[in-house]
Amino acid sequence: MAHDNKKADLLQWAEFNRETLSHHQLWATGTTGTMLEYELGLQVSRLLSGPVGGDQQVGAMIAEGRLDVLMFFWDPLEPQPHDPDVKALLRLAALWNTPAACNSSTADLMISSPLFASDYQWARPHLEPREWDANGIV
Ligand code: PGA
Repeated sequence: MAHDNKKADLLQWAEFNRETLSHHQLWATGTTGTMLEYELGLQVSRLLSGPVGGDQQVGAMIAEGRLDVLMFFWDPLEPQPHDPDVKALLRLAALWNTPAACNSSTADLMISSPLFASDYQWARPHLEPREWDANGIV
């Protein structure tokens, strides 16, 4: 997924990595997904557009353990109407130890890692409600 000023970067990155991406199940927020599907000719499962709930849907997928990696090229130069959703999504990616790339150089390093093509399972923290209480997090 990418903010509007970063969509060109993401499309260029995705096109360059099309072959690798073709072996994976792809999910994207609405507009990004439409553009990716058109450019790559690959099937992309589309969620809502970011500003109307798509970011929160991606966050929910991370919390449910349904996403392996997040490529989110967010715009550091322009405020977004859905900034709280963006922050919430990035928070969940950090909380659940989900590999997340916010620019093409990080995404390049991630996708070229031998771990990317392996059965590597990153450690998901055990966050049961009782543990949160015990640790004073809530
Ligand atoms: P979009 O949403 O793909 O629908 O443009 C991206 C975002 O703003 O997070």
